[in-house]
Amino acid sequence: MKREIFSEEHELFRAAFRRFAKSHVEPKIAEWNSSGQSDKATWRAMGEAGYLGAAMPERYGGGGGDFLFQAIVIEELAWMRAHALQTSLHSDICMPYLLHYGSEAQKESFLRKAITGELLVAIAMTEPGTGSDLAGISTRAVRDGDDYVLNGQKTFISNGQNCGLVIVVVKTDPGAQPAHRGISLILVETDRPGFERGRRLDKLGLRGQDTSELFFNDCRVPTTNLLGEEGKGFRYLMTQLQQERLVIGVGSIASCRRSLADTIEYVKQRKAFGRSIASFQNTQFKLAELATEVEIGQTFVDRLLAAHVRGEDLVQEVSMAKYWTTELQKRLTSQCLQLFGGYGFMNEYPISTDYADAAVQTIYAGTSEIMKLIIARRLGLDDDA
Ligand SMILES: Cc1cc2nc3c(=O)[nH]c(=O)nc-3n(C[C@H](O)[C@H](O)[C@H](O)COP(=O)(O)OP(=O)(O)OC[C@H]3O[C@@H](n4cnc5c(N)ncnc54)[C@H](O)[C@@H]3O)c2cc1C
Repeated sequence: MKREIFSEEHELFRAAFRRFAKSHVEPKIAEWNSSGQSDKATWRAMGEAGYLGAAMPERYGGGGGDFLFQAIVIEELAWMRAHALQTSLHSDICMPYLLHYGSEAQKESFLRKAITGELLVAIAMTEPGTGSDLAGISTRAVRDGDDYVLNGQKTFISNGQNCGLVIVVVKTDPGAQPAHRGISLILVETDRPGFERGRRLDKLGLRGQDTSELFFNDCRVPTTNLLGEEGKGFRYLMTQLQQERLVIGVGSIASCRRSLADTIEYVKQRKAFGRSIASFQNTQFKLAELATEVEIGQTFVDRLLAAHVRGEDLVQEVSMAKYWTTELQKRLTSQCLQLFGGYGFMNEYPISTDYADAAVQTIYAGTSEIMKLIIARRLGLDDDA
């Protein structure tokens, strides 16, 4: 079915990016997956070619386009299985914080360099003791003259090794009631004394992605590194999560399409009992069901993309999309792997890594359970709603 949200300009951008990714990204995927990290030169190439800040304002060096340009980058990289290159985290999750809440000086020094790929940005919310319950974080930032002094630990931070700037979620007022009113966002350059990168974590899937621990030991930054206003961090996070969750939905459906396409190819050529696997009714029904669900998911995601570009409040709907598309991806990769038989379990067949990579989709950026809580609250089912 022809998708209706993209203009001719978007399609030209997609064709150009596909060519770029084929020559600059695809040849490096295997190397990143074995080293556990992407390389900075590719990020620079992405930035210089205009693929990191396509939706950022031209005055900071961006492309000045709408979010659909970035959605195209997400889809193409997901199709290619270039998960190591976490451009969506950098461009579509971190950059908007700098754009919407940053001072002019912060935009000039950080956003501009992020768009060129010179500076990679990470966001550190999760701690060893808390993930879903963000208001329960314990990393502190204490004001001391014209500085903040940070102490605490973060974990599971994407781009943790490669980043040069971290948006750190901290408590500036630990006594605040309710607790989330004591949360602020502080920018920490990674060359500040007291900042330390920990281990790059060993994971089940997304093996080329750099996911790390970060430590802050009396890490001192000037108060001008505060992002937006003190005490408003939680509100900023809740506002930006709409795009973060939509990003996951966009990538999830693109990954589903790739797994499905590869499975259809495989079952047509593999034979058992003198017939192709594709000719068994079970195979046909399974793939027909999955293809139907992928179309339903794509239609929903496309409607959300169009509404997001129009600036609508979609908290409930993006939570539905994040929950549903990622659960679909888990189910789909499991059923597709089954159709590959023993080959599906072999790492040389990408369906095996698709299966492992899908596992985290229902966990990060808010688990499926948290998505359902948000939806239920919006349905008025919570006493506190
Ligand atoms: C590969 C990877 C990359 C990541 N990247 C980042 C990053 O860049 N920055 C960052 O800050 N974080 C990142 N994370 C962390 C991620 O966002 C958290 O893992 C996630 O939010 C869940 O938190 P948790 O792991 O502490 O699980 P917990 O919060 O301990 O949850 C454990 C289980 O309990 C369930 N649960 C929790 N509360 C409730 C409730 N109220 N009702 C019902 N069930 C509940 C959860 O759904 C889950 O099933 C990343 C994680 C991974 C694995």
